[in-house]
Amino acid sequence: MELTFHGGARMVTGSNYLLESGGEQILIDCGLNQGSRFCEAKNFEPFPYDPKKIKALFVTHAHIDHTGRIPQLVRQGFTGPIYSTEPTKDFAELLLLDSEHILREDAEVHHREPLYGAEDVNRAGAQWRGVSYHKKATVGPFSIEFYDAGHILGSAILAVEAEGKRVVFSGDLGNMPPSFINPRESIPGADYVLVESVYGARVHEDLADRRDALEDLIEETVKAGGVVLIPAFALERTQGLLYELNELVEHGRIPRVPIFVDSPLAIKLTAVYQKYASDPRYFGPAAIASLKRGDALFNFPGLRMSLTKEQSKEINGVPPPKVIIAGSGMSQGGRILHHEVRYLPDPKSSILFIGYQAEGSLGRKILEGAKTVKLLGEEVAVRAKVKQISGYSAHADQPQLLEWLRPMRLSAKKVFVVQGEEIEALPLAQKIRDELAMDAVVPTEGEVVNL
Ligand code: ZN
Repeated sequence: MELTFHGGARMVTGSNYLLESGGEQILIDCGLNQGSRFCEAKNFEPFPYDPKKIKALFVTHAHIDHTGRIPQLVRQGFTGPIYSTEPTKDFAELLLLDSEHILREDAEVHHREPLYGAEDVNRAGAQWRGVSYHKKATVGPFSIEFYDAGHILGSAILAVEAEGKRVVFSGDLGNMPPSFINPRESIPGADYVLVESVYGARVHEDLADRRDALEDLIEETVKAGGVVLIPAFALERTQGLLYELNELVEHGRIPRVPIFVDSPLAIKLTAVYQKYASDPRYFGPAAIASLKRGDALFNFPGLRMSLTKEQSKEINGVPPPKVIIAGSGMSQGGRILHHEVRYLPDPKSSILFIGYQAEGSLGRKILEGAKTVKLLGEEVAVRAKVKQISGYSAHADQPQLLEWLRPMRLSAKKVFVVQGEEIEALPLAQKIRDELAMDAVVPTEGEVVNL
């Protein structure tokens, strides 16, 4: 069996792996390469394999850096089946259509053809099949089983068997304990393992403190008569936040104030969460128990969903105190910008960061203490309080990654450390060698290995 690393090698994004056995080829993930830009130039290069010859594509989870080039693959002749869990399929269609808008605008600016069109998303949807965890899918000599990765709803670890060998692809591994989905599964044995390393060199803060920190911030800001602004990613982060707010509101731990979700994408994605909320294959026991008590999980008194532009504008007319959750997660665009122009200059208000803020993003500048920022063509003073809660990360940290690998330490011949920058991947590989006595390497882009 031959494995080629076509993305996610010494970088977080662009996850794309080719497996070949007996002349048959399958792909694991087909993600967009993302950096300081939503779509890096690399995405416009032709695929380093023939899409027409790929028998099937297996998708670990719905994040764009794992799915973003799928419609492009279809456009270039891939006609085989696409396998993922059901929630991943539902999310991917929404996210790929949303990205199509962004990519089209991006292409216009750079005078290029867009990577794909809405029709390619629809064709990919027609090729897409939902698979349950622990059910095997067979394609040619390959047999593939999905395990829960506990990263986002429907996320999967893939175990691929062929030629009597078992190769495990971690996808993205969740942080423990997750707030409402089931925790990641440990895999008892493998011959080869690919492990993600987004936080390969880091240790997260204690998760237990995150809800208290959120409660304190909202209470203080409400008491001051200000607005809490929360830039949030539409997938999983917004719903994780709603789940926490639901608990806080229903237990009377925060005052009743209007809480707005001002993001059409987040609202559509939340509907997908509601669809699977009673399914124990995806949601954890605590969430299912709340649901059985009649609690809607992502809905509570005071919550308002602002789907249309008019509804978004109406938020301005509601006097503080209030909470506004809006995209984009790094303030690189989206409706959050309009609220930032209005409330960043207000010393009574606060802005809360709960997600990763990339170097060069507006969110990073605010987080690093900029006194003024350029927003929608205006110079805006930052007088609002700036807070960060890092406990909401959806990725395992270094000790958790080692813990996940431990059951495979005797069986695995080699570990490939992927999906992380070198500063995260190289120290993790070293730790795996030192602490688990496993052979660990950090592959490079385009590298081919015989398994
Ligand atoms: Zn992910």
